[in-house]
Amino acid sequence: KDFRNSVKPNWCPGCGDFSVQAAIQRAAANVGLEPENLAVVSGIGCSGRISGYINAYGVHGIHGRALPIAQGLKMANRELTVIASGGDGDGFAIGMSHTIHAIRRNMDITYIVMDNQIYGLTKGQTSPRSAEGFVTKSTPKGSIEPSMKPLELALAAGATFVAQTMSSDLKGMTSLIEQGLKHKGFSLINVFSPCVTFNKVNTYDWFKEHVKNLSDIEGYDPHNRIAAMRVLMETEGLVNGLIYQNTERQSYESMVKGFKEEGLVKQDLTIEEAKFQQLMAEFM
Ligand code: SF4
Repeated sequence: KDFRNSVKPNWCPGCGDFSVQAAIQRAAANVGLEPENLAVVSGIGCSGRISGYINAYGVHGIHGRALPIAQGLKMANRELTVIASGGDGDGFAIGMSHTIHAIRRNMDITYIVMDNQIYGLTKGQTSPRSAEGFVTKSTPKGSIEPSMKPLELALAAGATFVAQTMSSDLKGMTSLIEQGLKHKGFSLINVFSPCVTFNKVNTYDWFKEHVKNLSDIEGYDPHNRIAAMRVLMETEGLVNGLIYQNTERQSYESMVKGFKEEGLVKQDLTIEEAKFQQLMAEFM
């Protein structure tokens, strides 16, 4: 199936988000999805435009709120495959509380964060993922805050799938998104997606030089949560690959009592007139 549409992205030439768009389109096709079975929900930021560039249902939400919308969609129609997406500012600043609670809730959603360590849409301010000392218009003398560690936070919150990849690794990214889509629970995929216009430090070359492939670590077991936490702490989070997966925990929506397997949208919601009036009276 073709998940491309005719909308031309207006990202800057060379932006890492192009590669993320291609990886989502390829992964969705590779796992056998149809466009009508996929919804892509995004927040605000350059990366938030991605929901309009994929041939599927798309919701361009509000800042930091992609995950509440995605969870509502999944609860209403569990037959839909739901991808939530956004940038590091969207998901790890204004949306961080939603991110943590969505992780611990473990609904079957794939969350792809385009992490470029800067606010690109607003022309280059320090973001929660910017490194200490990072110089931007908002921190002209260098940021005095340490960078947020979202993957360690995710593990501590009980994440069942944590992965990280890079825009320059299209094949690896596509494979991880496929694994995330197949995972029966919440999957967090953080993508180092360079902002070529405003972040002149964390470039494609910088990531290639600093990021370690987990496949090069002999005996690394992505089912061992302690090993996952250790590798993140030892590498300052600069790893590429599947960091952790727990296939034993059930997804949230599969445990909600009273929900039919086919989802709320297909349930018979007709209600007797008397009961409806009684219900309405409670709100008057
Ligand atoms: Fe991409 Fe940065 Fe341009 Fe935004 S400003 S489209 S993040 S390169």
